[in-house]
Amino acid sequence: MNTAETCTYMTHGAVMPFCKGCGHNNILKKLNDALGMLRLDPHDVCLVTDIGCIGLADALFDKVHTVHTTHGRSTGFATGIAVADKVLASGKLKTIVLIGDGGSMIGLLHIVNAALINADVTVIVANNFLFGMTGGQTSSLTPEHFNTITSPFGSMNPSLDICKISDASKAGYIARKTATDKDLTDIISEAIAFDGFSIVEVLELCTEHGTKRNELKGNMLSKMAEAEGHELGVIKNSAKRPEFSRKYDIDVNSHKGEIKPLKFITPSYKHNLKKPAEIILTGSAGERVQSTAAMLAEAALMCGLEVTQKNDNPVTQGSGFSLSEVIISPDEIYYTGVSSADYVIIVSEDGLKEIKSQDVFNRINYKTVFIIDESLELNKEGLNVISLPLRRICGGDKAAIGAVDYILKHFEPFPQAAFKSLMEKRFGEYGKIFKGEYYNI
Ligand code: SF4
Ligand SMILES: [Mg+2]
Repeated sequence: MNTAETCTYMTHGAVMPFCKGCGHNNILKKLNDALGMLRLDPHDVCLVTDIGCIGLADALFDKVHTVHTTHGRSTGFATGIAVADKVLASGKLKTIVLIGDGGSMIGLLHIVNAALINADVTVIVANNFLFGMTGGQTSSLTPEHFNTITSPFGSMNPSLDICKISDASKAGYIARKTATDKDLTDIISEAIAFDGFSIVEVLELCTEHGTKRNELKGNMLSKMAEAEGHELGVIKNSAKRPEFSRKYDIDVNSHKGEIKPLKFITPSYKHNLKKPAEIILTGSAGERVQSTAAMLAEAALMCGLEVTQKNDNPVTQGSGFSLSEVIISPDEIYYTGVSSADYVIIVSEDGLKEIKSQDVFNRINYKTVFIIDESLELNKEGLNVISLPLRRICGGDKAAIGAVDYILKHFEPFPQAAFKSLMEKRFGEYGKIFKGEYYNI
């Protein structure tokens, strides 16, 4: 174990938690030196770590921002952080990802995407050719013939060239080095200073799993890369493409066409709702169940209420059931999904089946009102059921709309007029939307 006593960005007196001889020791020290070389304000540095031994770095860098993420996703998090900083904050943040070969394989598309959009992110791939933390399994960056616990006769496959993938993803700065290279500090600092996406793959040893199974010393890493046909050194250093936020500015400022403004809903009705009302709507796919729920939600917003809507349907989208859970409330809502329904609307057999399979009867209370189509059989014992000729009068595609309108008309959780205005906007004059007999129910 080593003590990082002279470090400036690292935690004073931090004890390196890695196995003796592990390449991570070197990488982190060089990263610390690189930050020192650039004289970056620690508050302008964000380290985003992945799962794996390299992810233990968070605790070793207490002067800078750190974010520990899920396996493979660190580059995705870092991209969001970098873009948010450029667009919303000081724009000075340098966001650096520490990820292993296993994590970079799992989250490869995050690396590709960060490179494509040219986010100001530096990805340091600590490549020891295996999943170290979980016991030494093969990764996509394991070289052919390399022996791991899951390739005891040597890996059968050639390794992925992550630098070539980065190049194909239009990354501006790409380097492949070994952890013992004397100029690694310079390369890391060059990558961090680069205005846009940069990646440094650092080849290193896992002394716990790698060197025990392979005749391997640090000076053999370059030869291994060469044998795989992987180029070493600074492979690309080209700032031709503007970094994401500058490209965003250019594209937005040069946009000549009309930009459709966002639609905001201004409350124009008053409500008397004192507590949340929870509504479940269900029927068949293609019969406007979810769009009715959206209209209900919009009408509630027009009354100044808070709303959530949660939808469910089978993956097939166009067949089977369709279900929405809507909460409307005078106060802020902290979760989506109905826990105790005030109203349950069921307009078709598909909806009734789903109500049973989702065990909605365990999410009702003694006051729950069921509005169902007259064609449906529902065990009415102990339930407040109102059976209406919804499909016959409103048609299958407007049965849910009729049911919501009925609730607003008879129970008045908020003014029916708000929903009515949306119905008229969509379907024409209110009195002609459904068959005449509807208006008497
Ligand atoms: S298991 Fe391997 S990668 Fe993890 S700390 Fe030990 S030597 Fe390093
Ligand atoms: Mg690894």
